[in-house]
Amino acid sequence: MRTPLIVGNWKMHGTLGEARALAGAVRDGLKRPRGVEVVLCPSFTALAAVAEVLGTGPIQLGAQTCHHEAAGAHTGEVSPAMLVDVGCRWVLLGHSERRKEIGESDGLIYQKLRAALAHKLRPVLCVGETAEERRQGLTFPTVEGQLRAGLAGLAVDAIGGIVLAYEPVWAIGTGVNATPGQAGEVHGYLRGLLSELASKEIAQKTRILYGGSVKADNAGDLVAEPEIDGALVGGASLNAPGFIAIVKQAARVGAASKE
Ligand code: PEP
Repeated sequence: MRTPLIVGNWKMHGTLGEARALAGAVRDGLKRPRGVEVVLCPSFTALAAVAEVLGTGPIQLGAQTCHHEAAGAHTGEVSPAMLVDVGCRWVLLGHSERRKEIGESDGLIYQKLRAALAHKLRPVLCVGETAEERRQGLTFPTVEGQLRAGLAGLAVDAIGGIVLAYEPVWAIGTGVNATPGQAGEVHGYLRGLLSELASKEIAQKTRILYGGSVKADNAGDLVAEPEIDGALVGGASLNAPGFIAIVKQAARVGAASKE
């Protein structure tokens, strides 16, 4: 049984006041989440404030990226050690917006992944194809290339510490989500690759999240698909009641699969 994981990616949203209010509302709405893990990823400037709001409660803190070195002359960057220091336990890596806007390469994402693991941060490695790649029948080769490059040379045990997120680029922020069947097919393919790159046991244990226009009204169906182990939620994580509803649906599915 893989415990569902719901990760809120707040992207570049939120003043300190807004971040505190949103984190507080999520915390108060999810006092004792059962059968589900929840992570909030605010912007760097709000990490300390959100860490304070979440305190020692069950909702965990994550960042949206990190640098691959522990410290140094890298203006504007934030290291994994700094993220741990502020209370992060998770970090998103390889998000398509960073691949596209910042030009992050598979090689750089691999270095970040290694650095995050070395600092005991749990990486969520994002992979996904563009609309054009899907049209051309290149979905599997695209995500396979991203996965192989991201995990290249990692020890089998290290691969066991990673969460994957399948995020088709055409579904991010568009309001058009992949169907449970479309996502399930890619998740199954990724799990098969994990078997080869690590082991069957690790592949079975690894959580593969779906991301792309997840909302309260589609989360239940998506997370009910056996290959989908939770969601990476962008836009809908900025609204506390909507995000709480997504978490509750995942918890219901998680609890039901234990029965
Ligand atoms: C994301 O940015 O990871 C994401 C899935 O965004 P949205 O939910 O807004 O599509």
